Amino acid sequence: MSVAEIAGSEATIAQFARHVIPNYTRYPVCLVRGEGSFVWDAEGRRYLDFFPGWGCNLLGHCPPRVVEAIREQVGLLIHVPNTWYMEAQGQFAQALAERSFGGQAFFCNSGAEANEAMIKLARAVGRQRGGRSVIVTMEKGFHGRTYAALSATAQPKYHHGFEPMVPGFRYVPYNDLAAADQAIGADVAAVLVEPIQGEGGINLPAPGYLEGLRDLCDRRGALLCLDEVQTGMGRTGKWFAYQHFGIIPDILTCAKALAGGVAAGVMLARAEHAAHLKPGMHASTFGGNPLAMRAGLAVVETIEVHDLLQRAQRIEARFRRHFEALQTKFPDLIGDIRALGTMIGVDLSIDASQVVAACMERRLLVNATQGRVLRLLPALTLEDDLIDEGCGILADVLREFA
Ligand SMILES: *Cc1c(COP(=O)(O)O)cnc(C)c1O
Repeated sequence: MSVAEIAGSEATIAQFARHVIPNYTRYPVCLVRGEGSFVWDAEGRRYLDFFPGWGCNLLGHCPPRVVEAIREQVGLLIHVPNTWYMEAQGQFAQALAERSFGGQAFFCNSGAEANEAMIKLARAVGRQRGGRSVIVTMEKGFHGRTYAALSATAQPKYHHGFEPMVPGFRYVPYNDLAAADQAIGADVAAVLVEPIQGEGGINLPAPGYLEGLRDLCDRRGALLCLDEVQTGMGRTGKWFAYQHFGIIPDILTCAKALAGGVAAGVMLARAEHAAHLKPGMHASTFGGNPLAMRAGLAVVETIEVHDLLQRAQRIEARFRRHFEALQTKFPDLIGDIRALGTMIGVDLSIDASQVVAACMERRLLVNATQGRVLRLLPALTLEDDLIDEGCGILADVLREFA
């Protein structure tokens, strides 16, 4: 189908109004094609994308190795259930183990689903440790929309209207070790935390915070569970964000970028914990399917061939320079700048969604979270000249609000 044959955005939007449940706020734009850090809409307009695929498209749109791997696999096997062995699932599990802490993998299809598995496994382990079931989670955290993941998400706005929540979650402020110390009693099976809060505003851990949680968990007999759904797979300049902080989790989840834009999630668990999940205790029909696994292997290969973990650090440095210059130019508009690799958050003194809308008019895609935080999750393949171009657009937009 050529671009000319694709119905314009208007027809698609009208079709959605009739047939698609309106649970998302959508821009009145229909995207039809993407390449690298660009996407095109049905009218042929090109957008520079600093938030590709809500963090899923870590390598940009349609990364060549991922496209090739899927093309090759799709004619061999699309899906077979987990009642069989399949080569790619074993290979991807090994690739992830070798780049993390040598644990074992359970594959699923999304972040929420990976966190459900983690919560179930933590409780299965906790049961063996004197009937522990409570999971301690952090305020402003985000773990997904299914019921246990939602219950773990300590943000009342997401619970509202859907109560009662799943029992057995205890909330404490993020970056508050004293509060965690108070909360981790003999009934606690696990502490669940995002090493860097994503949806919560790109909140970085205070020095010693994650190390302190690790220590508290060890002393109290609780598991340390990391939600790396957004931070994982190279996003921060290491394969997993915990590797910046000299700790090792008991269980970790990853999803968004895991398979370069193909739906996939994973729980990685230390082998001694993983052994608690016996046949019949947990499952996912599509989990670990050959298409997603081949895509994931292609992501690993791409990151290593192009040295993209290093590249993430250079992208961070370049964005930092731009935002610091903007901060000097617009001191009333720009507050704190937080970044690790290609996870970037900037505090604004105004509603960030206005900035997002104004950027979109100039064909630059960015994101707002928690009201006043401008969030970018650019691709690891984003070139320097495009960083400069996009930051130039941002400067023009911010000038309007100054
Ligand atoms: C996006 C996200 C989730 C939820 O992932 P889904 O794939 O939407 O279910 C969970 N945790 C974190 C940290 C996320 O960023």
